[in-house]
Order: sequence, then structure tokens, then C-alpha cells
Amino acid sequence: MKLPPFEYACPTTIAEAVALLAAHGGEAKALAGGQSLVPMLAFRVASPALIVDLRKLEELRPIKISRDGVTLGAMVRWRDILDDARLAAAHPLLVAAVEHVAHYQIRNRGTVGGSIAHADPAAEMPGIAVTCEATIAVVGKSGARVIAAADFFQGPLITALEPDEIITEIRLPAWPVKRRFGFQEFSRRRGDFAMAGAALFYDEAGGKASNAHVGAIGVGDRPIRLAVAEAVINDSAVDEATIAKAEAAASASVDPPSDIHASGAYRKALIGVMVERALRDAAA
Ligand SMILES: Cc1cc2nc3c(=O)[nH]c(=O)nc-3n(C[C@H](O)[C@H](O)[C@H](O)COP(=O)(O)OP(=O)(O)OC[C@H]3O[C@@H](n4cnc5c(N)ncnc54)[C@H](O)[C@@H]3O)c2cc1C
Repeated sequence: MKLPPFEYACPTTIAEAVALLAAHGGEAKALAGGQSLVPMLAFRVASPALIVDLRKLEELRPIKISRDGVTLGAMVRWRDILDDARLAAAHPLLVAAVEHVAHYQIRNRGTVGGSIAHADPAAEMPGIAVTCEATIAVVGKSGARVIAAADFFQGPLITALEPDEIITEIRLPAWPVKRRFGFQEFSRRRGDFAMAGAALFYDEAGGKASNAHVGAIGVGDRPIRLAVAEAVINDSAVDEATIAKAEAAASASVDPPSDIHASGAYRKALIGVMVERALRDAAA
């Protein structure tokens, strides 16, 4: 389908990009990989007067790894994450999740900033951001600010981002070497959005788990943490009994809506199974 008409700009600095967005007061949209925005234009879900292409903003492309953690520039593509051998140790949960994002062609263009800004409740990257307590650095006409992932996602395709703001970085806290983790999702076909997915990690000492973080995608209007499942895991040995209790707790703590892909009841059962499988991977 033909796209609606729009003006196009391709700024070379972040300041210029922000000025363009600000000058159009909500009628302009940033363009990153185009893998969500272009379909939305085609379906007339979005019809901006101006597209501000971010592709020349090289400062949005680095992947930085330090003692403080992993910082992903907003224009880092899924492909860049999978190709960066350092991330297997620096953030294995991130890599495990990105392996499930879409298909080969889409992974070559889609970006972490685009995914975070798009805020699909079933998308992997927002789920990882919430599970890992990431922070999201943004810059707009009023300056720069940093938003906790838990506050950033406010509903399906709704975020804390102002119309003149662009995401510059996603910062994931440091990942201890011996941390245990698992990522599991279920979709009808490989590469489709998940009907439900679980991302989790915990630390272990003396045979007991602590610092459990259990995140879920596809079961609500935004990515969420499952506090009740986390409470089951903390201070316990992750054995068959704990895994069964965490599965039940995960299922009981969500109330997903039904849609054309699956009923709410199915997703409710599915998230329990995803937590069970992810926990089994972590324990192994
Ligand atoms: C067939 C298909 C299957 C897919 N499957 C999956 C999947 O399984 N899992 C998954 O997570 N995703 C999936 N996607 C989406 C894909 O990962 C997209 O790449 C991603 O959601 C958006 O990234 P993008 O770089 O393409 O952003 P764009 O499409 O360019 O932009 C998306 C939105 O973000 C805004 N935006 C982009 N960058 C910024 C920025 N730096 N600051 C502020 N706003 C910004 C845009 O204005 C727009 O509103 C799929 C897409 C397709 C077409």
C-alpha cells in the first residue's frame, strides 16, 4: 500500500533532530529502522507531516560495555547485538531475548531505540528493559533526562516520551559472571511476536536464590515484573517444588486480555509454562 505523503529530513546532529521534532509539535516522527513505523504508515495508523530520519546520527550506534553495565545506543540494530561476541558474557539474557526478535531481514534494520519507543507489550526489548531495571536516556528541547524502564512503558504503544524527545541510549546494569538466567517465549511461528514470554534471572549463594527478577511480555498492556513469582524464588533452592510454585504464582498474578491471537485464559496458562521453562534453564 502507498504511504501517506510526508516531508522528510535527515539531520546530522541530535540537536538538529530534536529541533525538527520540536518545531512540528507532535506532527513529526523519528525514523529508525522503519520496521514498525513504515507498516504503521502503510496502514494509516500513523500519518506524520514530517519524518526525521535518525540514520546519520553516528553517536546513537555504539554498544559500550563497562563495569557499570551495557549501554546500547538507540540506533543499535538487533543484528549488531547478535554479532557482538562481547555481549555473550556481558549480558547473556539480552542476547537470548534478541535471538527471538522477528526474522533475519527485520533484525538487519530494526533498532533497540525503535522498539523501546514503539512499546509493543509483546516485544522482547521492552521486556528485558523492565526485567533488568534498565534506564532510558532521552533528549528533547528541554534537555536530557533519564527514565526508569518501569516508568517508561505506560500502555500499548504509549510511553513517557514527549513528542520532541528522542531516545539516545538504553543502559542495562552490570551482569555478574555467575548470574543464572533463562528466556522463553511462545509464538505461533518462529519470529512472530510472542503470545507470552518470560525473562528471568537470579543470583545464587549457598544453594539459595536471591535477587530474583521475573519479567513477562505479551500478558498485559505493557511489559511487567511478576513480584509474586520473584518472592517464591528468593531465599529458596531452585528445585522442582520451587519451579512448580513459581509457575503457579506467575499464572495467578496476570489477567491477560483476549485478542485475535489467543484467549486471555490461554495466555494466563502459557506464562506459567514460560516461567517454568525459563527457570529450569536457569537452574541447569
Ligand atoms: C513482520 C515483523 C515481525 C516483527 N517481529 C518482532 C518480534 O518478534 N519482536 C519484536 O520485538 N519486534 C518485532 N518486530 C518489530 C521490529 O523489531 C522493529 O524493528 C521495532 O519494533 C522498531 O524498531 P525500528 O528501528 O524499526 O523503529 P521504527 O519503525 O523506525 O520506529 C518505531 C517507532 O519508534 C519511534 N522511534 C524510533 N527510534 C526512536 C528514537 N531513537 N527515539 C524516539 N523515537 C524513536 C518512531 O518514531 C516510531 O514511532 C517485527 C516487525 C515486523 C515487520
